Amino acid sequence: MLEKNLSIVEEKVKQACIRAGRDRSEVTLVAVSKTKPISMIEKVYDCGIRDFGENKVQELIEKQDVMAKDIKWHMLGHLQTNKIKYISEFIHCIHSADSLKVIEALEKEGAKKGVILHILLEVNVAMEDSKYGFELSEVQPIIDSFSKYPHLTLEGLMTVAPFVANPEENRAHFRNLNKLFVDNIEKKIDNVNMSVLSMGMSNDYEVAIEEGATCIRVGTEIFGRRNYN
Ligand SMILES: *Cc1c(COP(=O)(O)O)cnc(C)c1O
Repeated sequence: MLEKNLSIVEEKVKQACIRAGRDRSEVTLVAVSKTKPISMIEKVYDCGIRDFGENKVQELIEKQDVMAKDIKWHMLGHLQTNKIKYISEFIHCIHSADSLKVIEALEKEGAKKGVILHILLEVNVAMEDSKYGFELSEVQPIIDSFSKYPHLTLEGLMTVAPFVANPEENRAHFRNLNKLFVDNIEKKIDNVNMSVLSMGMSNDYEVAIEEGATCIRVGTEIFGRRNYN
């Protein structure tokens, strides 16, 4: 089942890239394994996937501990600042830098461990009260201030778009975020390497790819529905 699901996702990614005139290699597929058991993650790993996403620190460290060490782990969920220390030495990318408080705590942890943390700014594109992240209008001054964070590399921007019935409803949000992303690619700001645009989930990743996503985060369509009970 997992192999079949993955091949369906892969085909849709490929077709979206063709429609957008993009090369498949421009888009990284992150398999979002939250709530799913090691046995399933191993099967997806055996199909060749090396990028996995989780949204809880405890679950992430338990899985990282037992899984193959060539996996690139992506942290997708809101971070409590006192838990950053548990993931700082292995995490590949933190997509959820969603406040100045979190950014400053990440910098402090990087300095303490002598590591550079790779992070994305989470943008709440639709200004939903229920979601973490910066408003689009707040982001540019934060990017411009990154020279003060020598233990961080700002790799790009991330969003969790609204849950909508028709993914077309999110196209304008993706386009707006892509514009901000592209505007910053050419700028030379210390500690900024604007190269990752993380947007698109099971419901809307094809539209996100058409609008420039370089990283999509797909859970349900690979692993099946999650059971939170
Ligand atoms: C759960 C989650 C996903 C995956 O969502 P699906 O709809 O299952 O594909 C992607 N990104 C974030 C931040 C998530 O929390």
